[in-house]
Amino acid sequence: MTRGGHGSNILNCPFCDRLIDEPREIKTSLGSILTGGKCECGAVYVYDRGGHNLGEAYVDLMAYACNDDWDMAWSLIPDVDYELRELTYDRRQKKFANSQKKITPTYLFVLLKKPIT
Ligand SMILES: [Zn+2]
Repeated sequence: MTRGGHGSNILNCPFCDRLIDEPREIKTSLGSILTGGKCECGAVYVYDRGGHNLGEAYVDLMAYACNDDWDMAWSLIPDVDYELRELTYDRRQKKFANSQKKITPTYLFVLLKKPIT
């Protein structure tokens, strides 16, 4: 039953504590690509490797959570209609050649509190 030894991308969902799968590329209905996935509890997540583009990642995530229903995505109210978690992926770097760029891989998780109609 163990999934250990799979690599470094073993993470737990912040809502239900299940292990989540490694992020994969998902094509949205608008043709953009987001890197993320879904948890069994209904939470969805995106992974932003650079951590500098969270606004865009957030928009993609909300649309993904709403099955690309943008009207619904924009009408949702934080903490009322959904919960958001932002998790920094702490990957110990031994060394970086370009140290002036601080790269912080970040996961964004969202869990809708009411079912999608
Ligand atoms: Zn979950």
